[in-house]
Amino acid sequence: MRPCKRDFTREGSCVTHRSRWLDLENRCVAASVIDAVITQHEWQVERYGADNRPMPDGTGPKVEWLAPVVNLAQSAYTGRIDADAIEQVIREEWDYDKESTDEERAAAVKSCTRLRVLREEVVEAAASDPNSEALYGELIQVSAVALSWAADIKERREQ
Ligand SMILES: [Zn+2]
Repeated sequence: MRPCKRDFTREGSCVTHRSRWLDLENRCVAASVIDAVITQHEWQVERYGADNRPMPDGTGPKVEWLAPVVNLAQSAYTGRIDADAIEQVIREEWDYDKESTDEERAAAVKSCTRLRVLREEVVEAAASDPNSEALYGELIQVSAVALSWAADIKERREQ
């Protein structure tokens, strides 16, 4: 990453990243956030790397990537389809039973796609209180998932 360069004439913003300066960190906000995304990316690779690598992208013009939400809307359900309801329906599709067998868990992992992982993080961000620390954390996770996915696509192209 290109280093931050403080511009004292512009209220101390970073010339490199066009972002506000953080005195405590001696770098700009953008550099601080990118560092948090990379740290989260490293954690995700450490925890899920082996599972995510062979995972299909799951994208395409005919992919029904919001099927759980569409199914809810088309069902007899009469409640609001707000961010909480969407998060719940996406999690129901995603989560497997805690008492499931290793084979069931392996099957769930195998049916997963990169798009579903990103979708999960997006719905969690959407349901986060804007005044909470949770929203920042969820956005870092959205960014880290997108970073890992893009990195894998670039790796595939280089091979
Ligand atoms: Zn900077």
